[in-house]
Amino acid sequence: MDAALGHNPSYVWWSWLAAREIIMEGACWKVGHGRNIEVSTHKWLSHKPVFLGEARPKMLNNTARDSLIWKENGSNKFTVKSAYQVALQIKDQAQSEHSRARMDRPIWKKIWKLNVPPKVLMFLWRACSNILSTRGNLHRRKVQVEPTCGLCCQCTETVEHVLWECLLARNVWALSSGKIQKCPNEAPEFYSLFRLLFDKLTPQELEQWATVSWAIWNARNKFCFEKTQRHPEQILREATGFLVEYQRLNAAQE
Ligand SMILES: [Zn+2]
Repeated sequence: MDAALGHNPSYVWWSWLAAREIIMEGACWKVGHGRNIEVSTHKWLSHKPVFLGEARPKMLNNTARDSLIWKENGSNKFTVKSAYQVALQIKDQAQSEHSRARMDRPIWKKIWKLNVPPKVLMFLWRACSNILSTRGNLHRRKVQVEPTCGLCCQCTETVEHVLWECLLARNVWALSSGKIQKCPNEAPEFYSLFRLLFDKLTPQELEQWATVSWAIWNARNKFCFEKTQRHPEQILREATGFLVEYQRLNAAQE
């Protein structure tokens, strides 16, 4: 159940991994001896586990094996019909995540006209649609990763956390313009933060904000994958330099 896609997956393997998302959404673990269950990442309760320091939870049963049961119908037996219902739920959830961004079409028309590199625009769209590969999003998609932020180790790594609330982001934004510093340090979700800033900032300030957010994401990736840390001043300076250079070349071509 925990296998990864690999570099050259076959059609059958692709299909199995697609079905796995449905199975993992509709199934949960029935606890036996507990040896096959990852306490913090597998679904074995109807709610998130709360740990009270018990050395050995009372629900363990050494004489029974852990088993995966289907929870989408009364008989706890897998049926194609109930799996289809789960697939529809997953599709609805994905569509509602994208619909928030689609709702504001007039705003997006203005966004696509921002004078920033296309990769920054694509990044902004991905962040607003909540499809950046943060640990929190991967975990939600049933990928076996710890959802906790690798930079501060304190919160779930959501898009709004890594780009706005986490210590690295806060240190970068502390060096930015006064308008940004007057915004609340916490954001309910990245898209609401984006809407707030869209109303507050001039197009030029929004261009700078989007490019710096993109640079924070790159710094996060460098930390996660290369174990190198960028200084907040360096992140801000390089993002500003990158934007100024892009706009200069853009102006020269017109
Ligand atoms: Zn963090």
